[in-house]
Amino acid sequence: MPNPRKVVIAYHAVGGGDCPAIVGSFPISLDRFAAQVTGLRERGWQVGRLSQILEPVDRDTVYLTGDDGTIDWARNVLPWAEREGVPTHTGVITGVWRDEPIFPIAHKVQVMLAVRKSNDLPRPKLTAEQAAYIDKIYAYETDPNRRYLKGACNVLFSYEQAQAFLGTLDYDCLKLLVERFAQPADYNRLTLAEVGVHTVRHNAYDGDAASYYATEILPCLATLMQRCQRVNRVFTLPVKPKDGVSLAPLCETLRRHGFTGMCHNPGEWNQQDFIVCRVDAKDVESFFGLPEWKD
Ligand SMILES: [Zn+2]
Repeated sequence: MPNPRKVVIAYHAVGGGDCPAIVGSFPISLDRFAAQVTGLRERGWQVGRLSQILEPVDRDTVYLTGDDGTIDWARNVLPWAEREGVPTHTGVITGVWRDEPIFPIAHKVQVMLAVRKSNDLPRPKLTAEQAAYIDKIYAYETDPNRRYLKGACNVLFSYEQAQAFLGTLDYDCLKLLVERFAQPADYNRLTLAEVGVHTVRHNAYDGDAASYYATEILPCLATLMQRCQRVNRVFTLPVKPKDGVSLAPLCETLRRHGFTGMCHNPGEWNQQDFIVCRVDAKDVESFFGLPEWKD
């Protein structure tokens, strides 16, 4: 008999329950999430705890992970999962829990694009080459002001450059950002909701493993251990690293500090690599042969 499979699924925003999906996101509905989990269980899959991903399983197992710890995921999915006896993992960004919160660039961008009119958006100064690059990867954004803001902040600028470019947030944006993220109590009140490190700032990995561990990973882990009850040792890498940056030194550093894996890249995990691939929530039906979902 072949070894049982282990498949990790990556979720982001989930709307349609008690809590609306966060502004500017591309959510799936709670109904779809529930249909995926129920459909998988009916086909013989069990749902495992991500903290036990290295342990042997006696049948095919999925692991459910949600990135960023947004309020919609925490308020819609986690209570449902608790009622159904389904373990979950949330990759948490702890900068948002600081007394002076640090908000991730990607979320600031989403909020700003949702609140401001196209003409009121800050415009980055780009070379022709940079503009062409952004035109290619964000082709789906038909409005150039939106496209260049998104591209510059998400793939061109350093964290500091993006912060400076976006400037001080106005009240409407700040309010949405503050309300956007779940709090430790949202996880602690449940018994099946694990949390893990997803960095302090949601900064891309720049290739310097020691400094990234010291500034983005360790302080995040320390906060989680202080404030949360079920903390695992699986790291979720935020944002794709820049082209040519090797992840090997980061994996080695994480392994040395007791981490069991790093979630990154789409696909099915081969159960050997330290890097744990994940199937995206929107690909679950086609990947597992579940009925196509229609909202
Ligand atoms: Zn993330």
